[in-house]
Amino acid sequence: MRNRFAILCLLLFCFSSAVMSQPPAFISPTNDAVHSTLHLRYQQYKEHSIKDRRFKQTDIIPLIERLQKDPLFLVNRVGKSVEGRNIYLVKLGRGQKKVLMWSQMHGNEPTATMALMDIFNFFRQKDDLTQWKNELLDSLTIYFIPMLNPDGVERFERRNALDIDLNRDAVRLQSPEAQILKRIHDQVQPDFAFNLHDQTTQYSAGRCSSAATLSFLAPSFNYAKDINKNRFKAMQVVSHLNKVLQTYIPRQVARYSDDYEPRAFGDNMQKWGTSAILIEAGGYAQDYEKQYNRQLHFVTLLQACETIAKMSYQTETLEDYYRIPQNEKTLFHLLLRNVVVDKEGKDYLLDIAFKSYEAEYNQFRNFYFYNQIEDLGDLSVFHGYQELDANGLRAVPGLLYPHIFDNVDDLKYLDMLSILKQGYTNVKLREVPNDNRYHQLPIRLSSISRNITNKIELHRSSNFLLQAEDGTYRYAVVNGFLFDLQEGNKGAYKMPSEGVSR
Ligand SMILES: [Zn+2]
Repeated sequence: MRNRFAILCLLLFCFSSAVMSQPPAFISPTNDAVHSTLHLRYQQYKEHSIKDRRFKQTDIIPLIERLQKDPLFLVNRVGKSVEGRNIYLVKLGRGQKKVLMWSQMHGNEPTATMALMDIFNFFRQKDDLTQWKNELLDSLTIYFIPMLNPDGVERFERRNALDIDLNRDAVRLQSPEAQILKRIHDQVQPDFAFNLHDQTTQYSAGRCSSAATLSFLAPSFNYAKDINKNRFKAMQVVSHLNKVLQTYIPRQVARYSDDYEPRAFGDNMQKWGTSAILIEAGGYAQDYEKQYNRQLHFVTLLQACETIAKMSYQTETLEDYYRIPQNEKTLFHLLLRNVVVDKEGKDYLLDIAFKSYEAEYNQFRNFYFYNQIEDLGDLSVFHGYQELDANGLRAVPGLLYPHIFDNVDDLKYLDMLSILKQGYTNVKLREVPNDNRYHQLPIRLSSISRNITNKIELHRSSNFLLQAEDGTYRYAVVNGFLFDLQEGNKGAYKMPSEGVSR
């Protein structure tokens, strides 16, 4: 499955390289389709040293500090985190309208930080969009705080080193990081503020199977969810961005719940007189490292600047905002429908849903997926990134392969398709590698001491086969991934030879 995906990526890359080798079209400053040029040429601006989500602050400090050499940017250290890491403010532009963007106040929500690095590159480069950039920076002054919570980033966790959620500290202001954000807000008094987060990939755009790849919110400033002038402007900008994004991710934009949260920054900034906008990077099929979401963020944030500079958002209405489907938690990573499951000698018809979790290693820099059964029963109101109607198929717990192998190299000669067809889903190794190459294998690797049951129960990581009435195994479900056992898929079941991530 991954091999085919890799080929697809390669083809897409070749295609985009071919497109990029064409002479770029001149973009006039009034051209409404700037976003399509930004989307098309993204690779030209992408900061290629950041490849996946689990980078650290030490990876971005050189990228921020090199901006100091560029007269376009003003870079300041504006304070320190609990553990003494510097927090940076990057200023760009000379215009009257002021925009503030901060990212990664939750340490494990890195998509927007990656996009901010790309945006810095975009402004550093001199190209045929320079006139557009200059006009934008004549109109706007943009303040960026990339990575507000570097201590959380270090452990790839939401909270700061005091275990405080910075987005619940806007009023009490106990954490130095929240104090910095409040101080910068009060000094700058931005017209617009962008609060940049990641959300669970389980969110869909409405009650449907479309992932909420980007979700937006113009937060409330009171429990009544009143709409004043500032909030309305934020709603208009969101509506504009939604329309632009439909070009790239149709039906995959959602509206985050506007329940008032009196401790959060967005809600309070709205109260303090700034038009605040929350953006959440969600799921997109196969985009595990959120690199396409990063590209969409790059386009979205620059388009937000464009519409604020030109005030083109003013034609948007309240109806446009409320027409955006609500964020709903309806997606699982794998959903099997109508499976017959034997429990204590009796058959039951069950839907089975899996959720992917990340097991971390190498100081949180790497992970591999492990999956658990997250729900069982009538799941007809839910959807899956991967779905199968298993009508007529019975789940049979997988067996442990009788031979114990020394290490993963010894598996090279194992015919995985063949052993799956015999009902084996688990293999024991004397030496299990901490290596994310193996988490999507059709065989689950375990250490000798591990007890393997493969019971189909809630919160278990169960591996099983789906058996047809004639007794043949049609599918394998291993570590929450689905494998079709038809003979033609043999090529997908080889051992990976190279890492998929660092
Ligand atoms: Zn967050």
